[in-house]
Amino acid sequence: MRPENFKIMDNPQWQLSSKLPNVGNSIFAVMTQLANENNAINLSQGFPDFPISEKLISLVNKYMNMGYNQYSPMPGVLKLREVISEIVNKNYSAHYDPITEITITAGATQAIYTIISAIVRADDEVIIFEPAYDSYAPSVKVNGGLVKYATLKLPDFSIDWEKFPALISSNTRMIIINSPHNPSGTVLSHNDINQLIRITRNRDILILSDEVYEHLIFDGLMHESLCRYPELASKSFVVGSFGKTFHATGWKTGFVLAPANLTAELRKIHQFLVFSTNTPIQYAFAEFLEDEANYKHLPEFYQKKRDTFLKLIKTSRFKPLKCSGTYFLTLDYSDISDENEMDFAVRLTREHKIASIPFSAFYNKNNNNNLLRFCFAKTDGTLEKAAKILCKI
Ligand code: PMP
Ligand code: GLN
Repeated sequence: MRPENFKIMDNPQWQLSSKLPNVGNSIFAVMTQLANENNAINLSQGFPDFPISEKLISLVNKYMNMGYNQYSPMPGVLKLREVISEIVNKNYSAHYDPITEITITAGATQAIYTIISAIVRADDEVIIFEPAYDSYAPSVKVNGGLVKYATLKLPDFSIDWEKFPALISSNTRMIIINSPHNPSGTVLSHNDINQLIRITRNRDILILSDEVYEHLIFDGLMHESLCRYPELASKSFVVGSFGKTFHATGWKTGFVLAPANLTAELRKIHQFLVFSTNTPIQYAFAEFLEDEANYKHLPEFYQKKRDTFLKLIKTSRFKPLKCSGTYFLTLDYSDISDENEMDFAVRLTREHKIASIPFSAFYNKNNNNNLLRFCFAKTDGTLEKAAKILCKI
């Protein structure tokens, strides 16, 4: 019988050798927990604090009530893949076959891990631009790959294309790009795309293009999806997420566009990682996506939020960096403190009741540029409260 208050003990005989010895809890979990413990306004982890569409919720209900509650096909509900194919065709003039070239995933995070796991072999090298979203490097390392970091140039987080070729070797297997870019809010330009075409031409290098913020792009800029460029599309996995597009980060539904030969490899892993994802939600998204009014307003909607937040913090001592996309604004606090980013972010949360993400969390080595990332996917009321605090610091 199990004794009362039974406690699981570590077995001292067994020395666990971690596959990721230097990885702790994700900064998003850490800062959200700290925000909750301190009753602080949480502008750290990227998620909206306003409700999602009632219609979308009723569509999920509808499909649950209709009995769509069992496994979906392994690559995803066909109707959803067909709608995605039509939209990609319309937006980027690219044809992806819903049967062989589109796969529905449990959010972009699963998509990214699955792509890397399918492609990266032991000692393969993967080039990542940093600051970088936190899941890329661990996903490479746990699959035996080596990460090569290309550091973006401050203050505009541009790519140093002159230095870039030095990172390429005969072991380079993949380059990971992300535009619009988390955390900096910058976007790739047409020149960046031309450089990428030039550098990967006649080389055995694949690209993972993280485009989860494809609809969150401002000031009339065009999203440089790799889908637009046949030469790049033929060697790329393009990742999207409905978490961003429909304000539903907790629904964890995303997708991957890739040529049939790459998709076949992706699905070999996908089928054993999750097999398939939430069925009624896929049907709901398929119907919701049919009306483009449900997402076409997003650039304007989030640009307005960016501008509201910028206006509200105008008199503060925080200096905003340029934000052309995503729902993150970078603030430079060098006029306020010379504390390192993590210490300052923790102190802001505990003492001033406002949580952000220190930029150092997006670099592999200790790095301090006095920069914090703030999420502005919030109601105007939340942004006003947050700005009031920031203006007093
Ligand atoms: N890539 C980037 C750049 C992100 O910011 C995020 C999370 N917001 C993801 C991938 C993961 O998306 P998902 O929540 O769909 O897993
Ligand atoms: N992508 C979100 C961000 O950058 C968070 C995702 C997560 O919590 N893993 O804030």
